Amino acid sequence: MPAALGQDGDVQSQWARVRARLRSEFGDAAYRSWLRNMSLQGIEDGRAIISVPTRFLRDWVAAHYADRIRSLWNNENADVTSIDVIVMGTATASVDMAELPPQPMREPASAVVAAEAPDEKDASAPLDPRFTFDNFVVGKPNELAHAAARRVAEAQANNQAVPFNPLFLYGGVGLGKTHLMNSIAWHIRTYAPKKKVIYLSAEKFMYQFIRALRFKDTMAFKEQFRSVDVLMIDDVQFISGKDTTQEEFFHTFNALVDQNRQIIISADKSPTDLEGMEERMRSRLGWGLVADIHPTTYELRLGILQAAAERRQIQVPLKVLEFLAHRITSNVRELEGALTRIYAHTQLVGREITLESSQEVLHDLLRANDRRVTIDEIQKRVAEHYNIRLADMHSARRARAVARPRQVAMYLCKQLTPRSLPEIGRKFGGRDHTTVMHAVKKIEELRASDHVMAEDIELLKRMIET
Ligand code: ADP
Ligand code: MG
Repeated sequence: MPAALGQDGDVQSQWARVRARLRSEFGDAAYRSWLRNMSLQGIEDGRAIISVPTRFLRDWVAAHYADRIRSLWNNENADVTSIDVIVMGTATASVDMAELPPQPMREPASAVVAAEAPDEKDASAPLDPRFTFDNFVVGKPNELAHAAARRVAEAQANNQAVPFNPLFLYGGVGLGKTHLMNSIAWHIRTYAPKKKVIYLSAEKFMYQFIRALRFKDTMAFKEQFRSVDVLMIDDVQFISGKDTTQEEFFHTFNALVDQNRQIIISADKSPTDLEGMEERMRSRLGWGLVADIHPTTYELRLGILQAAAERRQIQVPLKVLEFLAHRITSNVRELEGALTRIYAHTQLVGREITLESSQEVLHDLLRANDRRVTIDEIQKRVAEHYNIRLADMHSARRARAVARPRQVAMYLCKQLTPRSLPEIGRKFGGRDHTTVMHAVKKIEELRASDHVMAEDIELLKRMIET
């Protein structure tokens, strides 16, 4: 039995943090399917030994998550430089990250750099080898952020002047901020390896700063940050309300800008919306180029899925990809997680990927992504479609011109919302549930006999659901 377990309670709490990070990075679904089954056996000679119950799981975890687990471990505990994934009881596939073949990509140097454990003195966080420009799919929502990131990276690689300072990227969770920042770092490391690039989260910046304060080592801390060519701070909203850290960051920031060093910042909000940030900080953050990343569009999601399937060499019917792009709108991480799950499932049961099997495998994820359609929304859409007043949805008027659309709206409420007949009746000017029932029956009949009605319903459904 490997040492460390039981002797060092710290190891277990580090492991708990690694797991929590994995969960937030890969999502609950992937966590439940793959990662929850891991247990830590101990740490031996810098290797974290992790067991899983089956060979399949071992191969899967080793191929898809080992790299990330290693780097998270290394963040928690610098002594851990590699991990072993074993099937419970029997030691097998040793995953020394340095020996893993690099992932297929066109920036080969990056994989090698990533495989090395980060230098103790290096303030930079390890980069994710998947997060390169090559793997970033560009679409309308992210084209400005992408172009700006490329510009900054190329200026560094070609020794040109800093184009804008800082570059401030902002947008919601999972829209590619970290991916773009890592891409910049990889690009510079590949084409201008002598440049000193630091990439780290604001959280880690704070942690290092506090440690420097505690060990009365702030000179070295300042030195290390102020001698860089490029400083990237991810998720800067984290230091909102943390005054001392903000102060230090502000000085570092100013010193670097004065020396024309490139700074790149990401946050979940625009500089002006960052609450808990000092006014002078907010205004400085907005001095350069502020680029926001908008929520994904259907086209971008489809593009990302196609690229991901290709990269992993998974054959997925276009219909399935379209379905996923349509239905999983929350964030990109979940999209990729869905693909992973579908693939894993087909591997397990040895059947082809179909639309039906995908829906089955993903039912929980799909439910979470279901857009909640409301009765109000349906009434509004239907009134617009038939060109009647919204008030007529509630009114007592019985003229066919308003009564029929009202029935259509009731029918759609029954179909598209979980509301009961009495609830629906109440929302239609306090009508009785039997009126709603009658409407539903009537429209069902008309749908079957009247093709104009059938088309209207299809059209409305599509408009309401997307
Ligand atoms: P953020 O930092 O904005 O929360 P990340 O950069 O961590 O988001 O992205 C979440 C996941 O989605 C990552 O796996 C990333 O590779 C992927 N991703 C996001 N946007 C894109 C894109 N445009 N092309 C390819 N992958 C993307
Ligand atoms: Mg991020």
